[in-house]
Amino acid sequence: MTEKNEQKLKFSAEISKVLQLMIHSLYTNKDIFLRELISNASDACDKLRYEAVTNPALASLDSDYKIAISFNKEQKTLTISDNGIGMGREDLINNLGTIAKSGTQEFLSKLAEKETTNDWPLIGQFGVGFYSSFMIADKVSVVSCRAGQNDCWSWESDGSGEFTVAPVAPSADTLQRGTRITLDIKAGQEVYLDKFRLRHIIQTYSDHISFPITVTDEEGHTETVNTASALWMRSKSDITPEQYKEFYHHVSHSPDEPWLTLHNKAEGKLEYTNLLFIPSSKPFDLFHPDRKRRIKLYVKRVFITEENVDLVPHYLRFLRGIVDSQDLPLNISRETLQDNPLLSKIKDSLVKRVLSELKKKGETDEEAYKLFWKNFGPVLKEGLCEATTPREQILEACRFASTASGAEGITSLDGYISRMKEGQDQIYYLTGDRIETLLSSPQLEGFAKRGIEVLLFSDHVDDFWVNVVFDYKGKKFKSVTRADIDLGAVKEEDKAEEKQHKEEMDSQAADLCQCMKKILGDKIKDVRTTNKLTSSAVCLAVEEGAMDIRLERFLIEQKQLNTASAKILEINPEHSIIRSLVSKLTKSGSSSEIEDVTWMLFDQARILEGEEIIDPAAFTRRLQGLVEKSLAA
Ligand code: ADP
Ligand code: MG
Repeated sequence: MTEKNEQKLKFSAEISKVLQLMIHSLYTNKDIFLRELISNASDACDKLRYEAVTNPALASLDSDYKIAISFNKEQKTLTISDNGIGMGREDLINNLGTIAKSGTQEFLSKLAEKETTNDWPLIGQFGVGFYSSFMIADKVSVVSCRAGQNDCWSWESDGSGEFTVAPVAPSADTLQRGTRITLDIKAGQEVYLDKFRLRHIIQTYSDHISFPITVTDEEGHTETVNTASALWMRSKSDITPEQYKEFYHHVSHSPDEPWLTLHNKAEGKLEYTNLLFIPSSKPFDLFHPDRKRRIKLYVKRVFITEENVDLVPHYLRFLRGIVDSQDLPLNISRETLQDNPLLSKIKDSLVKRVLSELKKKGETDEEAYKLFWKNFGPVLKEGLCEATTPREQILEACRFASTASGAEGITSLDGYISRMKEGQDQIYYLTGDRIETLLSSPQLEGFAKRGIEVLLFSDHVDDFWVNVVFDYKGKKFKSVTRADIDLGAVKEEDKAEEKQHKEEMDSQAADLCQCMKKILGDKIKDVRTTNKLTSSAVCLAVEEGAMDIRLERFLIEQKQLNTASAKILEINPEHSIIRSLVSKLTKSGSSSEIEDVTWMLFDQARILEGEEIIDPAAFTRRLQGLVEKSLAA
């Protein structure tokens, strides 16, 4: 059987690219290769420890997990071994020859096309840590024995397109179980063949690893160089910010700083420890359709799983870190985990903790909060669309652009409420694609004139949650595109006067509304006056309860809706164009001129709302006519 012999295999295309990049190394900090290999060794020990609990065949194995490092200056080799789960032949080929993770291949091939290497530090996120050993090694040799099986396999490569896999007779090797990686150190990288350097690197990057890491020097002297206890079990005061940061790098595979560190111990009915982080930059797959959550579940210090654990809701999927439960049974199977009621209790408790921590941070450090909001605001807002989430708490953590804060600023809803005008009982908002465009929307004119603040929503998710969240702390959300907005009520003092004036203007324009409605026919649902506008003549609006214009357009684009519904055309009775139309209509009745201007105004309102013009040819003809006329005058 060929399987029993040495076999040469080709790396997948993405790996070849990664290797090329590694060999002509771009990382300025080559030290991290050791962190990556130790991290893999630690994962392997974690995996075996879990399997030994659930698989009786492995239970008898010794549980003295360790990671051992040694070197040989003469032969220029550095060796990292672990007694973890190990890899069989297929594992070696699959894990060290291809990239299986979703989204990764695509992203990597994009990255590899680029000339610039600024994105390069991101590489850790893609599960290619192992290959970083080629930064400092000409050749990498792996021997691995899968725990519970009695055959061992070797894997070897010089980082060019191929690798070799061959069987190793267990008797011919001292390795009993686990993996040993031997690096032939490149010329010029001999610094890694030094006890002090190795110890320093391990203490810098891998101190938090919960298994002992030993370094053996050439005299055969061995010392343990890390603290070797689970970092999250230590007390907060014993952990330096650097150690938190390294642990964050370890769990997140990402090189940025943690934006927020949440380290808590819950005691009482529910006992668990969480060490969670919010990253300071966006993970590359944040919006990947599978919306993966990446929190590692431990039970009494034993790693259980990272896949599909329902420890935090999808809208908090930006969290990284670990949760260690004291109450779950150690032999819990990954399959039945989802049905465990304890897990959902931990989840509820974590949600509360994270949201209240966000609230606190938002109140105490507004500047820093902006970064969080920019990165993860749209994800957090997904939680508003779900039925069983603590909406009010999420809303407390939300920030929005507004007419008062401008394009760059953000405000909380509580801030908005504190600035509400006397008599104002609703939270006004306007949705659109870009804040800059929203700020110049005619829909906002009347609000600006009266000094009423309007929130500006420009994320896609905003179109959805506004349909299911109706109020916040007793104040209703109200889109300014609704046809029934009457701003007259806001300023109490001039109420009577304003009301009278409004009635007068409305009655003067009533005939015009009728006339315009007839002209526009089924293109429009109604024509009404509004006091929402000041410098613009018209705008489009929808009935209370109807679908928002932008959402409707989105659903049509997504082919979830066939046709747009007819809108309401709102006219500003104070505007000079409308006033001229009113007087022309009173003097000589409907005319082709009124007809043309009506269509022009309607098209203008559509353009401003980002809608297409129904008949561009007719629009151009009318526009030309009007321009010619005004030039001739
Ligand atoms: P990642 O650790 O992010 O998955 P790596 O490139 O570091 O990516 O490693 C690829 C895979 O190789 C690991 O997921 C693991 O399955 C396997 N592997 C690497 N080193 C070891 C090891 N020491 N023991 C067992 N499996 C290992
Ligand atoms: Mg790794």
